[in-house]
Amino acid sequence: MSATETQTRPAVLILLGPPGAGKGTQARMLEQEHGLVQLSTGDLLRAAVKAGTEAGKAAKAVMDAGGLVSDEIVLAILRDRMAQPDTAKGVILDGFPRTPGQAEALEALLAGQGASVSAAISLEVEDAAMVERIAGRYTCANCGAGYHDRFKTPAVAGVCDECGSTEFTRRADDNAETVRARLDAYHAQTAPLIGHYEGKGVLRRVDAMGDIAEIAAALRAIVTDASAR
Ligand code: ADP
Ligand code: ADP
Ligand code: ZN
Repeated sequence: MSATETQTRPAVLILLGPPGAGKGTQARMLEQEHGLVQLSTGDLLRAAVKAGTEAGKAAKAVMDAGGLVSDEIVLAILRDRMAQPDTAKGVILDGFPRTPGQAEALEALLAGQGASVSAAISLEVEDAAMVERIAGRYTCANCGAGYHDRFKTPAVAGVCDECGSTEFTRRADDNAETVRARLDAYHAQTAPLIGHYEGKGVLRRVDAMGDIAEIAAALRAIVTDASAR
């Protein structure tokens, strides 16, 4: 950024990657460190399912089967969330966009606000690691902090590091059959977005096979760079 420019536009970061790549884990860390707002369409959809809204009812069967929810439903939820004032600080999109149609709709939405995608970060993992990550994933039922049976255990067994809760949940779709379908959906519908963002000059590839702290350090460097543009 030159001395005369001031940063008026919030950073819009996209985390791309297959299920289990570590998008949610890293997005939460970026939120805590950089004051960006994590916006997970998976979390928003799960909340809609739990609340029993029309969108939630329509999404449930698709999510249980490991498919992608329709662009129409996802975009309606995303637009509502993006309209809330806290997103003005900058957002980290976790699990969105997932189709070319969603990517185009996002660009139109941002253009209307004089903004654009700052960086699309592709978390690159091998399929075998991804299956292992998903199989051991669980979450604090109170605050949503993410854990793993082997790779990220709380400091005190059975107690959430962030809020002290002793209640945890596992996602219904984190099972062997559904994972296969989710991976297929990723390769067919989401992976093409890597080329899309490469063409726009905003793609950043990150090796996501390392440990959580190493990947966080790589992302920190990208976010600092993107926020300074
Ligand atoms: P995504 O949001 O991409 O589906 P998560 O962030 O939920 O992925 O991570 C999936 C699981 O793998 C979680 O249990 C998380 O604790 C764990 N995990 C995340 N990043 C790593 C990593 N780099 N190495 C090992 N396990 C990880
Ligand atoms: P993960 O990255 O671990 O697969 P998410 O929590 O991002 O999990 O998504 C869970 C499910 O929610 C997906 O399998 C899909 O059914 C639905 N979903 C989430 N985000 C989107 C999206 N942007 N477009 C369509 N479906 C979505
Ligand atoms: Zn907690």
